[in-house]
Amino acid sequence: MAPAPPHHVVVGGSAAGVAAAFGLREHGFTGRVTLVDAGTDLPYERPPLSKPSGGHPAPRPIMPSSAYREQGIELRLGVAVRDLDTGTRTVTLDDGDRIAADAVLLATGVSPRRLDIPGRGLDNVLVLRDIDDARAWAARLAAAGPVVLLGGGFIGLEAAAVARRRGLPVTVVEATALPLGAALGPELARLVVQQHVAHGVRFHTGRHATALHGAGAVEQVELDDGTRLPAATVLVGCGVVPNDALARRAGADTGDGIRVDGHGRTSVPWVWAAGDVAAYFSPYTGRVQRIEHWDVASRHGRAVGASMAGVHTVSAEAPYFWSDQYDRRLQMFGRARPGDRMVLRPDAGPEHFLGFWVRDGCLVAAAGLDAARQLRAAKPLIERRIPVDPAALADPSVDLRSLVRAGTAAA
Ligand SMILES: Cc1cc2nc3c(=O)[nH]c(=O)nc-3n(C[C@H](O)[C@H](O)[C@H](O)COP(=O)(O)OP(=O)(O)OC[C@H]3O[C@@H](n4cnc5c(N)ncnc54)[C@H](O)[C@@H]3O)c2cc1C
Repeated sequence: MAPAPPHHVVVGGSAAGVAAAFGLREHGFTGRVTLVDAGTDLPYERPPLSKPSGGHPAPRPIMPSSAYREQGIELRLGVAVRDLDTGTRTVTLDDGDRIAADAVLLATGVSPRRLDIPGRGLDNVLVLRDIDDARAWAARLAAAGPVVLLGGGFIGLEAAAVARRRGLPVTVVEATALPLGAALGPELARLVVQQHVAHGVRFHTGRHATALHGAGAVEQVELDDGTRLPAATVLVGCGVVPNDALARRAGADTGDGIRVDGHGRTSVPWVWAAGDVAAYFSPYTGRVQRIEHWDVASRHGRAVGASMAGVHTVSAEAPYFWSDQYDRRLQMFGRARPGDRMVLRPDAGPEHFLGFWVRDGCLVAAAGLDAARQLRAAKPLIERRIPVDPAALADPSVDLRSLVRAGTAAA
């Protein structure tokens, strides 16, 4: 009797898991591929959930259902993986089913960090991670009443912009002195905050919520300085925690996420990991870390899928993310860290922004507001570690593509 074809099971059907399943096929894996996700919807894109949509949120599929059929990717939706048995190489689902697998990829992502303060269980205290959350948020946007956002990260600020567009009073409570300051650096973060202030958003920075009050539904948010903010809706955006419990129980190395090598292998040979849940070395930061961006998760998933198919692949593109707030698009390639030299390109104008971060003579990150063309031009400078003259970056008359050409010729 011919041996059964190898079976790879992907846990988590989002950016990384879907890309990995298709990546397996693209790179010649002809065995069985099963994609398991706890959600009941066909895998869908998360970024639109916090952006203006103007109607009832509907999941936007990453791939049409026909693509899974054509590629022979079996979908098991609405069922979570409960356990991995490394001894028998078996995946146990929470409906009791057990699947034999030759390899398992954990693309289980992250979950919103929950509040740990009195009143956290009141009605209309929301998070925004999946389509059900987005529907609950849309329902609250349709209701009147003040919105308080706990956490001034990207999702919180995108939600602030959407709520202001609906004419709702919006207050952002942020623990640090400057929302997005760590991610974007002070110059760009200040510009983003100014934009929100101009649209009527109020900020309480350097503060955190100590209690939520209300009878049934939330009515007030109490801050650590005693301030009480009126609230009909509270959206909590206080960071995330990696869904790494399966890996931990299977004995894989975990820290902040599941530790993987450059190809996505965990310390347990049978188990791989990709996407937001995976912590790996990034040459762009020089550190082992998780990156929580859609494009990065998708590219990482595809590369790990390729490696699982035997085509060893490293996802080497510069990290990229975008964020839409009001009618502006913020984008960033690469990663900056404290101590990098910031170079601003002055022609961007008071409301625009084009900034670069330089480390050891090379461009390590570039960010802009409504500056897509220039940022695309800067990307190869980051990826190829082309030495750059900060004065040329700051000079609006210098075409960034000419720096790439000059650097490539010199190499
Ligand atoms: C509202 C919102 C807006 C965003 N906007 C942007 C943006 O504008 N730009 C950007 O770059 N990034 C954005 N992101 C971040 C981006 O969506 C994530 O980086 C990306 O979704 C990570 O993909 P992932 O596949 O690693 O994990 P996730 O998307 O977290 O998916 C993990 C999947 O695993 C499933 N799962 C978990 N545990 C199990 C289990 N035990 N069994 C079965 N299934 C399981 C979950 O159901 C989930 O579907 C946004 C995120 C959110 C929530």
